[in-house]
Amino acid sequence: MSPVVRLSGQPPSFLTTLHSGSEAAWHALLDLIYPPRCVSCGRIGSYYCDDCQTDLHFIKPPVCARCGQPLTHPGLCHICRKTTSPLDAVRSVVFFGGSIRFAIHALKYRNLPQLGEPLGNIMVDYINGRQLRAQYLIPVPLHVERQKMRGYNQSALLAQIISRATGVPIVNDALVRHRHTLPQVTLNASQRWANVANAFIVKKPELVAGKRFLLIDDVTTTGATLRACAQALKEKGASSVWGFTLARARRKPHLPHNAVDSYSQNKNVSAQPYHNQIPKPD
Ligand SMILES: [Zn+2]
Ligand SMILES: [Zn+2]
Repeated sequence: MSPVVRLSGQPPSFLTTLHSGSEAAWHALLDLIYPPRCVSCGRIGSYYCDDCQTDLHFIKPPVCARCGQPLTHPGLCHICRKTTSPLDAVRSVVFFGGSIRFAIHALKYRNLPQLGEPLGNIMVDYINGRQLRAQYLIPVPLHVERQKMRGYNQSALLAQIISRATGVPIVNDALVRHRHTLPQVTLNASQRWANVANAFIVKKPELVAGKRFLLIDDVTTTGATLRACAQALKEKGASSVWGFTLARARRKPHLPHNAVDSYSQNKNVSAQPYHNQIPKPD
C-alpha cells in the first residue's frame, strides 16, 4: 500500500499555517475535520496506531557493547574488536522495517511533526529502567537550509520527548552541520563517511569540554553520521559521546568487499568491512 493513500487524514499544509488561536484548540479542530490516520495501516484515530507500535522488531540483548548490533554473547562484535571510533557506543530500539519505516518516513518527509511524540515515547520506553549517564542530549543537527525546507528537525522532536521524560537537558546550538550533505540513504557504505566527514563543527566549545553527551537521531545505518558528530565533539574535549536512535538497519551477515568503513581507513586502523543493510530511499 502506498503511504500517500494512508495519509489522507493529513490537513492541507496551508491550513497548518493559518491558525492564530490556541495551538491545542486548533489541532483539535483539525483532528475533527481531518481525523488522523495511522501512517502504516491507515486506521483512523492516530498518526501511529497502538497495533502498529507493538508490531516492531525490538532489539534485544545481548548486543555489542559499542555498536549495539545483536550478538550471541555479551562483548564486542568482530568489527568493533578491530576498529576505533570517536563514538563510545550506540544503542537503538528497533530494527528499521515494517511500520517504523512508514512512521520515520512520514516524520521526515510528510510534514507530520505530530509523529515526534509517539516515536519519542518508544525511545523513552527503552530508556525506562536504564540509567542515563549523559549530562546533555544533542539532536543530530540538520543543515540550516534543510531544516528551513522541512520546517523542523525530526531528531530535535525526538530529543524533546526524551528530555521531558528524563529531565536531561538538550543542547541545541553547540553542534552545527555547516556543510550540505547528501541524504545518506542515497549512498553506499563506503561513500557515507566521505559524505559526512567534517560536516559538523562545534560552535560553542565552552558547552562541550569535559561533558558527557547522548546524540539523538531517528535512524542509523552505518553509523557514519553519529561518528562524524562524535568526532567534532571529542575534538573539543567532550568526555564521552553515545548515540541513541529509534531504529537501525540490520547488518548483513555477508559483507561485500566494497563496503569498507572509510573512517577506519582514515585513522590507519585495521580496516574491516563495516556494512549495514541500507534502507531504500523512501
Ligand atoms: Zn496502524
Ligand atoms: Zn560492534
